[in-house]
Amino acid sequence: MPQADTSQEAAIRQAAQLLLAAEYVTALTGAGISVESGIPPFRGPGGLWTKYGEPPMDGYQRFLQDPKKAWEERLAPSGASQEIRDTIARAEPNPGHYAFVKLEELGVLRWLITQNVDNLHRRAGSRNLLEIHGNSTLVRCLNCTARFPLAVISFDVLPPRCLQCNGILKNDTVAFGEPIPGDVLEQCWRVAGHCDCMIVAGTSATVTPAAYFPMQVRERGGTLIEVNLYESEITQFCTVSLRGQAGELLHALAQTVQTLRKF
Ligand SMILES: [Zn+2]
Repeated sequence: MPQADTSQEAAIRQAAQLLLAAEYVTALTGAGISVESGIPPFRGPGGLWTKYGEPPMDGYQRFLQDPKKAWEERLAPSGASQEIRDTIARAEPNPGHYAFVKLEELGVLRWLITQNVDNLHRRAGSRNLLEIHGNSTLVRCLNCTARFPLAVISFDVLPPRCLQCNGILKNDTVAFGEPIPGDVLEQCWRVAGHCDCMIVAGTSATVTPAAYFPMQVRERGGTLIEVNLYESEITQFCTVSLRGQAGELLHALAQTVQTLRKF
């Protein structure tokens, strides 16, 4: 329907103008942006947790009680962890991920906060990236918070140890019951504190602490731009809502920003 296209084009243009008028743009992304890369959501039909059961709510406590056992379960060649590793290894960044890279390269986007652990923003090339729930391809030292790629760590003796301080290494993905790593959370608050325009893409932004960031921007008089398939809890607070596939919409948004900036 041409009419619908026109209104969506107008919404994309309005969003692009908001981005260009803002002083400090950030973005918050969630699972919806990785669906088009073939990463299934955790919950719902086809979800990994639907298939294997939800991870224990006290996952972090269990890890601390017996890190060796936690690593043995995680390294097992089958089960949820293995399927997540396989799925992530097969996935490729999609146009939505690349649109954020472009916005960063244009000097428009300052920071990207993601709830995803799939490493796709990083693989696409995003640099100012805050992975609030960790990164499933990394391990993190519980003592000094240094992070290392899984590939450089020896698992001959469990639990694996930090290359810098010999502390116990945990997978970087934040477990249930585990606090968001302090270095990342602190930087998120700092960034949200400066932000006057936030793109909220592929997330209903209902899970805390991520949910606080757009609200903080909103309360200080900033604008929110939503990119989601469906209306969600965040919609009522957004100045512009782009409804549809995140990849397509974000690509169009980045293109429009680039075009408008030439004038
Ligand atoms: Zn360490």
